[in-house]
Amino acid sequence: MGGQLEIAGSDGPQRCSFCSNEAAGPCASCERPVCGDCCTLTEGGVRTWAICLECDRKKGRSLSGAWGSFGLFLAAILVILAAAVAAMAWTASP
Ligand SMILES: [Zn+2]
Ligand SMILES: [Zn+2]
Repeated sequence: MGGQLEIAGSDGPQRCSFCSNEAAGPCASCERPVCGDCCTLTEGGVRTWAICLECDRKKGRSLSGAWGSFGLFLAAILVILAAAVAAMAWTASP
């Protein structure tokens, strides 16, 4: 039992994987250690999760991501409306 499970140089606190600060805790998604500056808190239901910058970017939890899906939603509605109007015009004309 000679401390083989220890990570190399693990004296002292865990380091953030994005900067050299001391890690505050693991990312809720990828479990990389992150500090308070390099993570965003997300309110996903009951608990507050800390998500690292990398996962935050991937998931697009940002405002631009929300607006992107909203734009897609609007575009889909427009396409459906246009199709409906075209179908009505086609069936109305003899
Ligand atoms: Zn950091
Ligand atoms: Zn992460």
